[in-house]
Amino acid sequence: MEYNINTIRSYFPILNEKVYGKPFIYFDNAASTQKPLQVLEAEKRIHNEYYGNIHRAAHYMADKATADFENVRQQVQEFINAVAKEEVIFTKGTTESVNLVAFSYGEKYVQVGDEIIISEMEHHSNIVPWQLMAKRKNATIKILPFNEQGELEIGKLDELITTKTRLITVAHISNVLGTINPIKEIVRIAHKKNVHVFVDGAQAVQHQKVDVQELDADFYAFSAHKTYGPNGVGILYGKKELLNEMSPYQGGGEMISEVSFSGTTFNELPYKFEAGTPNITSVIAFGASLDLLDEVGVDNLASWENKLMGFAVSELKKIEGLRFYGEAENRSSVISFNIEGIHSYDIGMLLDKLGIAVRTGHHCADPVMQHYGIQGTVRISFAMYNTKDEISQFIKALKKIVAMLK
Ligand code: PMP
Repeated sequence: MEYNINTIRSYFPILNEKVYGKPFIYFDNAASTQKPLQVLEAEKRIHNEYYGNIHRAAHYMADKATADFENVRQQVQEFINAVAKEEVIFTKGTTESVNLVAFSYGEKYVQVGDEIIISEMEHHSNIVPWQLMAKRKNATIKILPFNEQGELEIGKLDELITTKTRLITVAHISNVLGTINPIKEIVRIAHKKNVHVFVDGAQAVQHQKVDVQELDADFYAFSAHKTYGPNGVGILYGKKELLNEMSPYQGGGEMISEVSFSGTTFNELPYKFEAGTPNITSVIAFGASLDLLDEVGVDNLASWENKLMGFAVSELKKIEGLRFYGEAENRSSVISFNIEGIHSYDIGMLLDKLGIAVRTGHHCADPVMQHYGIQGTVRISFAMYNTKDEISQFIKALKKIVAMLK
């Protein structure tokens, strides 16, 4: 399909809003993307036409909701090319997916003195759950560092991995540096030494085609709200052999096979990890955002976003005193920077007054801030609906702010 930016923008009503009387420019897509009409309409349709609790009831509405819910599971399977539908587990978000694996994998596979390797560029949600698990299991956490460009030093993996290493956890794309990490290579090194790999794909699936079989990672997590879908839905992909062996994460309805006071047996995959009533409406509406990604084409939007990125970087480079954080050769649509002598919060606040939404602060990645010895950065991040013209407006506004504050 030809990339029709006007059609794409027409799907997102919020883009026509004004902020402080100015046209709204949204560059905080790494935090959450805006929602297209397709998703908003799907949510309304479900409630108006066929709402019921899924899986258990024997009536028309519940059956229809169940079928649609399970169809989205299959859609996700196809979207990431998982081998089987049961390898797709619905959670609340990437954070819950990490917590699930840190707990259930930890219970089964991690013993006292074992080691987990975490990359230095992780979001807090891919650090803290592992720290909690390490504390519970008396395991050790080791760090895979990144260099000044913001590239992981994977040459160090060989010496970091010991016979005690169980798992490496790493972001596919960093939410601060924009670095696209070489997941296939990391998985190859890890698997040679029987180490599992968890990939935080929260910043990846909306920017590039992800094929979990090709990556061969053992786990892959992402959030619907960053992929044009609703809030409160996440995905955990895991290899069936591992998920089957792992302990349940939460107890409750749906995840059991039989319950009695003398003992309980657990349901099969994926239900073993889906205790209680899930976010039915949002999962079904998430299907509409996957349809949209199909319609636009992930490869098409990737090349659109790469052009935006190239333009933004070349324009930002012209601003005196501007320093980028993350200049990896392989990077995606996130740009972090600071301008000498100006606090990132001041830039964010003044941009907001001009109708431009960016993110400032530590981006839930304190170790990245510590690496560079800074408190925070300004971060802009792109989505399928952003334009070169918006970037020009942003650069103009930024130059005005610099002139004012310097
Ligand atoms: N990992 C990364 C790389 C992220 O960018 C985010 C969201 N900022 C998360 C994890 C957490 O995602 P969620 O809040 O949707 O659980």
